[in-house]
Amino acid sequence: MYPKKGGDGLWNGARWRHGNQGIIFTPPRPRRSNGDLKAQRRQGKASAETALHLAIVEQCGAGAVLHTHSQAGTLLSQWALQRDPQTRASGEGRLELADLEMLKGLQGFTSHACVARVPVLANDQNLPRLASRALPLLADAPQGLLIAGHGLYAWGSDLATARRHLEILEFLLEQRWRQLLLEALLNPPQVPHQSGTQSTVTHTEATPPSSSPRP
Ligand SMILES: [Zn+2]
Repeated sequence: MYPKKGGDGLWNGARWRHGNQGIIFTPPRPRRSNGDLKAQRRQGKASAETALHLAIVEQCGAGAVLHTHSQAGTLLSQWALQRDPQTRASGEGRLELADLEMLKGLQGFTSHACVARVPVLANDQNLPRLASRALPLLADAPQGLLIAGHGLYAWGSDLATARRHLEILEFLLEQRWRQLLLEALLNPPQVPHQSGTQSTVTHTEATPPSSSPRP
């Protein structure tokens, strides 16, 4: 978990229902701590990203939606789309997070032996269009959605649940990039020998020293 930071500390905004008073907005503000979230809540001005927050509220029946710009979310969301020509072309993919005890912190997950497939969408400055592309992906999303090169949206039935999902997903993202890094270090890609170099070595090893006079 992140006792002193929300994701990487980059709360970008929160939306949650507040009784009959509608949805409360917190304006984007970098380096907001968890403790500040409660203290800072107020009826603020809706940001440009509100369309996506509201799509999640309406489609998932969420009571709260939180959004972060963590480095792990930014990094892995780009990686998830770019590593495959098909997802790169469609602008839509999934990031798989598997076999980890912390998965059980997500609603509906009761074992570590399962896979959370977080939908990933290409970023788009047209937020209504981005929200409409997100809608069909939300129903089976593990309470989280990644926007490539941008960040994570996490939600829940209330603010406490959304915050738990956010912290769990941020942990899983951190774990995933470390896992990928470890795998790359343990299994570095094989660099093919250049034909000229290999030929030279072979020649050197195979050719006897012709200038040496035999006794
Ligand atoms: Zn954002």
